[in-house]
Amino acid sequence: MITKIKNVHVFRIPANEDIMEYLKNYVEENRINCGAINVIGALKNAEIGYYSTGQKRYIKEYVDEQCEILSGMGNISTIGEEHFVHFHIVLGRRDFWVKGGHLIRGKVFVGEVIIYEFEGECPRIKKELSLWPEDM
Ligand SMILES: [Zn+2]
Repeated sequence: MITKIKNVHVFRIPANEDIMEYLKNYVEENRINCGAINVIGALKNAEIGYYSTGQKRYIKEYVDEQCEILSGMGNISTIGEEHFVHFHIVLGRRDFWVKGGHLIRGKVFVGEVIIYEFEGECPRIKKELSLWPEDM
């Protein structure tokens, strides 16, 4: 697929908002059907996941400290009428070690966002949903 950038959205997520809820609402309100997300900032109470192909589910971990968002990147697609934000994160801890994974939730301390909205559609078809957990 070859596409072009339609719009670039640059904004901050307000403190204490859940990053995933905020991004999903923003994408829905602005009808962004296809795009790439880039976030840096700081996050607390993060829950991250590691997809176990053997168990066919996410193994989850709660990160109980405020962390830097060293790298937050994701993509935007649609599943039927619903917008889907898929987002991965690298969290920098106080001891300078990092944790990362598929971001399930986390409250923003600072969230600086750039969304590159692409022209066209990015629908996900059923057979590509193997990583789409039913409990999320
Ligand atoms: Zn993922």
